[in-house]
Amino acid sequence: MVGGQDLPKYRMYIDGDWAEPSSGEYFESFNPYTGKPWSLVARGGKADAERAVEAAYAAFTSGAWPRLTASQRGALLRKLGDLIARDAQRLAEIEVRDNGKLIAEMGAQLRYLPNWYYYFGGLADKIEGSVIPIDKPATFNFTRHEPVGVVVAISAWNSPLLLASWKMAPALAAGCTVIVKPSEYTSASMLELCKLVEEAGFPKGVVNVVTGFGPEVGEPLVQHPKVAKVAFTGSEMGGQRVYETAAKGLKRVTLELGGKSPNIVFDDANLDDAVKGAISGIFAATGQTCIAGSRLLLQESVHNQFMDKLVAFAETARMGNPLDPETQVGPVTTRPQYDKILRYIDIAKGEGAQCVLGGGPAKRKECGDGWFVEPTIFTGVTNDMRIAREEVFGPVLSVIRFRDDDEAVRIANDSPYGLAAGIWTQSIKRALKVSEKLQAGSVWVNTYRAVSYMSPFGGYKRSGLGRENGQDAIYEYLQTKSVWISTADEVPNPFVMR
Ligand code: NAD
Repeated sequence: MVGGQDLPKYRMYIDGDWAEPSSGEYFESFNPYTGKPWSLVARGGKADAERAVEAAYAAFTSGAWPRLTASQRGALLRKLGDLIARDAQRLAEIEVRDNGKLIAEMGAQLRYLPNWYYYFGGLADKIEGSVIPIDKPATFNFTRHEPVGVVVAISAWNSPLLLASWKMAPALAAGCTVIVKPSEYTSASMLELCKLVEEAGFPKGVVNVVTGFGPEVGEPLVQHPKVAKVAFTGSEMGGQRVYETAAKGLKRVTLELGGKSPNIVFDDANLDDAVKGAISGIFAATGQTCIAGSRLLLQESVHNQFMDKLVAFAETARMGNPLDPETQVGPVTTRPQYDKILRYIDIAKGEGAQCVLGGGPAKRKECGDGWFVEPTIFTGVTNDMRIAREEVFGPVLSVIRFRDDDEAVRIANDSPYGLAAGIWTQSIKRALKVSEKLQAGSVWVNTYRAVSYMSPFGGYKRSGLGRENGQDAIYEYLQTKSVWISTADEVPNPFVMR
């Protein structure tokens, strides 16, 4: 499996040490812009998963970590945030090499990333229990919120450090210890982040990273009896599998899965703004985002006018090297994903949708040997077509017509998914009414793809379980203990019922 031996080699990070995989094997990680391997990543297995869980469990139950005050934990998280801020550009360039997303996007994402560590670091010492005015005489009852234990964080390849941080920051703030299993396609940046974890001074075993393939190393992590919680971002199928495995051990689970999000343009919208929103909804990150606005719902009366503007704008997209700040659409991250997108384009054509832009691999000179797909738009899509129901995870937009608000809501909600939705209108009344009816975890009005460490994020329906970000996210990593203390002068006779 391993080719050139001169490539940089990434070992795992277990118990505060750089660890060789017990198999001794490494696999290649590819640069999607060149289609060639650029680094080697340790191929972890069951034995490595067990080592990491034991280390995380030991760090959770003994040693320096549980002895830290919540304020000290918070300070460590904020220090890690500072180090990420210092190294943001370097980390962004590594991610671009690994996943092919634009440096313009990854640079901004990595500069924003420290906020997760500042925010949850700040929250660490504000987790307060309560005193219950209990209905028993001579009794004092209070609650404590305690960390659940060892957390396994499994993530997808599209935003490696962002998705891992959505889990790590609240888990560490809560006092848990963490094992991160990054995607096998994009492991490098997480291992680079471990160097900053070390530099910040986290005790050993608090953060561990094991790399490799889902069934080989992810599954044993989820199965391990000393793991209390699994936080997963990935495909619906992967999430289902993880949920089933975790259920056998009665573990806590949060799932952030796929989407087929509707981006709805009403006839009273500012059409130029809505065009920009539609473009960023589907072509940003080459459509490889869970919140992609992959179904564009257009009100009939503005359909043709909007389509002219949309196609004209989309045609201006500059493709090419994602490390060039001028590039606007980059390659697809993985070869299987590239093949899958092309397959869906064929499916859409076969279903009778009209391809009005793109519709195949990008043969442009500036795309070289990379895995590029032309920005693609289909009109004449109906909501029962596979192209409207299944997640493509690529730069492929399906345009669906609607007549009125009720029909827009009906089509928008007629989906197994419910991750996000967009509304373009100048009417506040319409915006409020429609946003209330949409079955989606995030609804954007006259904007799209806004995400913050402060605001809850997650899916309705098959898009997931639980929420990340915002204050509530920390409770996904805490459990409540009720403590009862008798203040009675003597313990009453147990044979006399009170
Ligand atoms: P995937 O399900 O193939 O893999 C996700 C992760 O799960 C990887 O690290 C993989 O190694 C691991 N994995 C796979 N099988 C496993 C198993 N049996 N046990 C344990 N771990 C296992 O998903 P992907 O292709 O990497 O990511 C793309 C998907 O992620 C898309 O569907 C996208 O919508 C979704 N996504 C969702 C969000 C969100 O927040 N809702 C964000 C980004 C991506």
